[in-house]
Amino acid sequence: MQLTLDSLCISSKKLCTPCQSKLENHEISQIDIEIGNILLNFAKENKYLNTIKVKNIINSHDTVYIILGQGDKEKIVRAGVKLENLLKGYINKNFNFIETTKNPKKLIKDLISPIIPISTSTIMLPPDWSKELKVQINKTEKADLQISSNDLSIVTEAVLGVYAHYSYV
Ligand SMILES: [Zn+2]
Repeated sequence: MQLTLDSLCISSKKLCTPCQSKLENHEISQIDIEIGNILLNFAKENKYLNTIKVKNIINSHDTVYIILGQGDKEKIVRAGVKLENLLKGYINKNFNFIETTKNPKKLIKDLISPIIPISTSTIMLPPDWSKELKVQINKTEKADLQISSNDLSIVTEAVLGVYAHYSYV
């Protein structure tokens, strides 16, 4: 299992120098250690989880987003409510597992399905032509979104590395 810091550092809860500096630079936080530990322990009896990759953990207001490697979502689904209960026992929030991708359309589908955006486009902004993703959602569907606009932007940026602007038209 690939986690956001070394498995050994997680299970011993003694961080090596690189992991310690990740913690100090806020690339990771305590939640990475705790959730990593839950996943490692759970995988001892559920060996199909040993191959998953955890890329990023985002702790938002009421939801924890766990960004997984491609193809890993079905393994988490298989782990089911048993794993979910362990995670909720640590922190009582919703858990949303998202597969990493370079494809904005796939990511947005995973985040807002069954809602389909009106349009998704990447624009280049002067002066440095940095990329920004623009997503338009029908305003009549805004109330049906299961995810806040703020979380949409945070998760999109974490996965794709571009600023994402969601608008309701
Ligand atoms: Zn380490």
